[in-house]
Amino acid sequence: MQGDLCKVDDIQKVFKLYRFEAVIHFAGLKAVGESVSKPLRYYSNNLVSTINLMEVMSKNNCKNLVFSSSATVYGQPESVPCTEDYPLHVTNPYGRTKLINEDIMRDVHHADPEWKIVLLRYFNPVGSHPSGEIGEDPMDYPNNLMPFVQQVAVGRKEVLTVFGQDYPTRDGTGIRDYIHVMDLASGHTKALDKLFTTPDIGCAVYNLGTGKGTTVLEMVAAFVKASGKEIPLKYAGRRPGDCREVYAATEKAEKELGWRAKFGIADMCRDQWNWAKKNPYGYRGHQELEVHAQKFIKSEPLSNRHWAL
Ligand code: UDP
Repeated sequence: MQGDLCKVDDIQKVFKLYRFEAVIHFAGLKAVGESVSKPLRYYSNNLVSTINLMEVMSKNNCKNLVFSSSATVYGQPESVPCTEDYPLHVTNPYGRTKLINEDIMRDVHHADPEWKIVLLRYFNPVGSHPSGEIGEDPMDYPNNLMPFVQQVAVGRKEVLTVFGQDYPTRDGTGIRDYIHVMDLASGHTKALDKLFTTPDIGCAVYNLGTGKGTTVLEMVAAFVKASGKEIPLKYAGRRPGDCREVYAATEKAEKELGWRAKFGIADMCRDQWNWAKKNPYGYRGHQELEVHAQKFIKSEPLSNRHWAL
């Protein structure tokens, strides 16, 4: 069944059909750059959807919620690893919608302590299902590092642009905490277990990361090794708003959820390459993608024409 969280009737229909014990709320727009150029689209979509969902949940007496938040709420932390009690600071509308959603949930729990909520702050999810049948397929221009690397490896793009080579890091490129999507998924089941077994959980927050930082060049080298493909690089200046180094403190999730990431970057790249080589054009064929690209080019202003097949 498909619906739109921005349409309250769609949610009500689903709640009439089924009785839910809990909801995992993943839905939202997530392109940082687009959020800067289209802030109202981001505020409207990412906030109205949460408010509608929580209203319908409340009416149906379903008050157990797991929410996909993001490490973006830490901004550029003063030191790493980031613990969950770090000050929160966002630098773009996308990040602000994550933080406002967290605040909405804290307020809702404060007003009605029957709510039990887990906020999961994702670090950088990458990789694919090990079967190679489920993977990331950006509709338009990929914004994140690994979908871009993947498109270069399958020949859809010629070169990867590395943003910044002068960061004070071991090779000059930015450091992130990449986490396998399968680990991320198991973090959600642990969060649900926690909700169901902890009556006084309130509105709790956990990082989902590996606790290890990897540079852009290290990640590219791991992908080259996994795929046997070359990834030509070109260097550009720092991407505006980018942080130097972000990685997670994992102790709280380990201790309270009984969860820790199992996979390393070699596993992430192996599984992502398996998906990419089986599905070089994602869920759509080459032809279908070209038609989509043409429509995208026609509907976007010149400055946004990034498509290259
Ligand atoms: N990055 C890059 N080229 C790209 C996309 C990303 O060099 O085409 C770098 C980016 O500057 C950052 C890292 O890769 O240091 C991860 O970027 P991503 O957008 O995937 O995650 P985020 O910055 O939101 O954590």
